[in-house]
Amino acid sequence: MSNITFTMIKPAAVADGHTGAILAMISDGGFKIKALRMLQLSQAEAGAFYAVHRERPFYTELVESMSSGPIVAAILEKEDAVQAYRDYIGATNPAEAREDSIRKLYGKSIGDNAVHGSDSDENAIIESNFFFNTMDRF
Ligand code: GDP
Repeated sequence: MSNITFTMIKPAAVADGHTGAILAMISDGGFKIKALRMLQLSQAEAGAFYAVHRERPFYTELVESMSSGPIVAAILEKEDAVQAYRDYIGATNPAEAREDSIRKLYGKSIGDNAVHGSDSDENAIIESNFFFNTMDRF
């Protein structure tokens, strides 16, 4: 169990103007922001980030959508951060997500589900390293 997780606010949620509200929810949930960046992924970068899903039928759609506009990437700190954040954002499909969860409030569909959250301590480190070097962490 680690105290770090990685999140992205996905392009549709950024484009719809939800960045501030989602960052506020993250803080209100007791997650401390350790690093923060706004950027747009190329298709190659989005493909590499989601390479684990490359055999899945939605992979092309996922890569297109994740590279379609700017995202906001962040490293978050809280006790048992990976599980705590996954509980906080809700189920992958916003329609099935817990009431008042980030995905329920700001997700539009299973593809545009507002935010990413790491699924393991190991991936939290890999994903944090994908976006942030040591000088960008606080
Ligand atoms: P997560 O850990 O809850 O983000 O879910 P997964 O690791 O299973 O999937 C990664 C991302 O792929 C999800 O956040 C969704 O945006 C997307 N995704 C998963 N399942 C589907 C699907 O059936 N259709 C589409 N279009 N996207 C999906």
